[in-house]
Amino acid sequence: MLNFRFGRRLAVAEEDYDFPPFRPPSEADSLLLRVTRGCPWNRCAFCPMYKQIKFERRPVEEVKRDIDTAGVYTGGNVETVFIGDSDSLVINTEEMCQILVHLHDTFPSLTRVTSYARTLTLRRKPIGSLEKIRQAGLTRLHIGLETGSARLLSRIEKGAVPDTMIRGCAKSRDAGFEVSLYVLLGIGGESSWQEHALKTASVLNKINPDFIRVRTLTPQPGTPVFQWWEEGSFAMPGPETILKEQRALIEGLSVTSQYLSDHVSNYAPVDGNLPADKAKMLSEIDTAIERLSEDVAYKADLEGMRYLRSL
Ligand code: SF4
Repeated sequence: MLNFRFGRRLAVAEEDYDFPPFRPPSEADSLLLRVTRGCPWNRCAFCPMYKQIKFERRPVEEVKRDIDTAGVYTGGNVETVFIGDSDSLVINTEEMCQILVHLHDTFPSLTRVTSYARTLTLRRKPIGSLEKIRQAGLTRLHIGLETGSARLLSRIEKGAVPDTMIRGCAKSRDAGFEVSLYVLLGIGGESSWQEHALKTASVLNKINPDFIRVRTLTPQPGTPVFQWWEEGSFAMPGPETILKEQRALIEGLSVTSQYLSDHVSNYAPVDGNLPADKAKMLSEIDTAIERLSEDVAYKADLEGMRYLRSL
């Protein structure tokens, strides 16, 4: 039988169902639906995700067949769906709407349908097209901000400047989407953590997203960041710097967002609703920083996480 949530075949079945290889942790219980394959940009210096995959738009009929297959196997009992791969809103708006309508017809109890998206795509799409997609039933966009620093965005070849991020997200919120933004802790290295934290807070304040989710940089072999690190042109920040960076980021935020550290790469599980939980979150980070200087075992644990992440 197929497991549509984890993208694995649990037993022999010759069903032709194409799974997105990546999904956010928050979509662990969602049905996974692949509308495009790979990333049309595929150049971010830290990202190994789709390097081996040629970008393709899947034919709508093929995607609809997958929805039908999932409908048969789940009995139509699905409440949340995640659409992959990295930038499916690049497809034609009418085609995306057809897919979404078929999805909602097949799964009448759907409450949430989400997708990864790039801000350049969102900024380029007319607001009317985004509204149509929202009305057809896509509810939330997962977007990689990474950093608010124009210099760092350029260095990591994100393919977007802060203004693109701000406008793309503002347009998406105007169209009615929930916006979930990802911040990459550590991408400024040891030397630029303050710039990264302050500029990122500034961009987030202009967007005021529904969710802010942090991940900690884990250099992956085959990526430019890994190569910079090996050559010595990039100094990977240690746990103390990452925690200080996270503290400066939270301190600089004036948003009404949910902040989540929902990823295994992070050193400290700092979560909360801003602004209500800001003081509690800062105090949790202060406690972690204090422990780092006093508790040798704790320091070794966090250093070990850093070491394991770099293998
Ligand atoms: S981070 Fe996103 S946009 Fe950048 S290469 Fe990876 S999948 Fe593509």
